[in-house]
Amino acid sequence: MPAPLLRMETPDTLPASADCVVIGAGIVGVSAAYWLARAGRRVVLLEKGLIGAEQSSRNWGWCRQQNRDARELPLSTKSLALWEEMTADIGEDMGFSRCGLLYLSDDEQEIDTWAAWGKFARGEGIVTDMLSAAEATERGAATGKPWKGGVWSPTDGTADPSRAAPTIAKGVLKHGGMVIQNCAARGIERQAGAVCGVITERGVIRTRQVVLSGGAWSASFLYQMGIGFPQASVRGSILSVAPGARGLPAALHTSAASVTRRADGGYTLAISRFAQLDPTPGAIYGAKHFVPMFAKRWRLLSLGGLQAWQAGFETRKRWAMDRPTPMEAMRILDPRPSRKALDLTLQRARNLLPGLREVPVQAEWASYVDSTPDGVPVIDGNIGLQGLFLAAGFSGHGFGIGPGAGHLVADLMLGREPITDVSQYRLSRFGQAQWGKVSEF
Ligand SMILES: Cc1cc2nc3c(=O)[nH]c(=O)nc-3n(C[C@H](O)[C@H](O)[C@H](O)COP(=O)(O)OP(=O)(O)OC[C@H]3O[C@@H](n4cnc5c(N)ncnc54)[C@H](O)[C@@H]3O)c2cc1C
Repeated sequence: MPAPLLRMETPDTLPASADCVVIGAGIVGVSAAYWLARAGRRVVLLEKGLIGAEQSSRNWGWCRQQNRDARELPLSTKSLALWEEMTADIGEDMGFSRCGLLYLSDDEQEIDTWAAWGKFARGEGIVTDMLSAAEATERGAATGKPWKGGVWSPTDGTADPSRAAPTIAKGVLKHGGMVIQNCAARGIERQAGAVCGVITERGVIRTRQVVLSGGAWSASFLYQMGIGFPQASVRGSILSVAPGARGLPAALHTSAASVTRRADGGYTLAISRFAQLDPTPGAIYGAKHFVPMFAKRWRLLSLGGLQAWQAGFETRKRWAMDRPTPMEAMRILDPRPSRKALDLTLQRARNLLPGLREVPVQAEWASYVDSTPDGVPVIDGNIGLQGLFLAAGFSGHGFGIGPGAGHLVADLMLGREPITDVSQYRLSRFGQAQWGKVSEF
């Protein structure tokens, strides 16, 4: 069974024009469209497959400030408040709650890294509690073993990946926006160096502002226009177990495995950052940018197969605007999970939490995680074509900050005060290699 997803009906007809078009309905695109519609803009949200069907429904659901890179911390704090605000405004549950996140470790170096982060974060006004060995052991009682230390972040939480993006899309409709599924944007029409329309598989929409929030497809889309965006993806494999395990923490991270309670009472199981690197043309062309990141994380990466190459999402071929593109051939990027990774995850999670031994596996899936060379997204309206805004490269932690990222890109488009400083999210920072700048977390 694949990752669960709430489905919604949307119309087939395309409007002739719009104030702005958002390409890609993951958590970032739906949030951008939501804030634009809320500001009174005539917005059209285009999705080549189903809303939220790629990374945004396949993740753990963590919405965290804990261990965030300093460049993302203000955005994650704002996003936690926006999850609450959106839920109240839309009037439907997205499974968001500040249930707190628990980190446990026996590795003194890891505990020291968390302590250093905690010192910095407390200076930023974030509540984060370092746990002594006794406290960690008490909070981690469900593991049945002693721990050397840990962290408890009481104001962080989780949301339900199967419901979040579709529910926010309902919010777009509530505020007068249009949402269209099964409709790929093939390219951008330009006039005098500025956007004047979006070419879709069903015709052209006239517009002067476009957000590209296409997740793993963003670099190949920009490549068609000669805009370089260093982006590479790794394949993460993940599974969920049925409800029935009692007394487990809502969200627990350890180096062995991480578990997250799901809305149905089951748990999502995963190993942090454990992933397969499937070669693609994009990764090969962009290799020089990604050497620092892969050098830092090579212990957790293994070489995968050809499925990413065949899926075509990181192609470096030009496509024609009047013929089906790789996006229409692959409506939903649904890679095969690694059997080895799934078996190891289940074994480690059941060793960690004996309560999981009696509950059966419910679903298994994989997803490509799109990343930038420094592990921080690009949110930028100055990428070489007037009226085109990019919000992509969320590097494995974009779900929690999706609401804020969408707000930020809407701020840029509306010319209003941004909710946080955008300078650290510029595309132009990738002029040089990122040694020493790769996010630690
Ligand atoms: C296993 C795993 C665990 C993770 N855990 C967490 C976590 O706990 N917390 C966290 O914060 N983050 C987590 N992440 C990362 C998070 O899921 C992503 O960063 C986030 O979902 C990215 O959202 P997005 O909107 O940028 O991209 P996506 O969700 O991938 O959405 C992009 C959408 O654009 C569409 N699209 C692309 N091109 C076009 C086009 N030309 N026309 C029309 N549509 C197009 C695609 O079909 C897709 O639906 C995890 C990721 C994975 C894979």
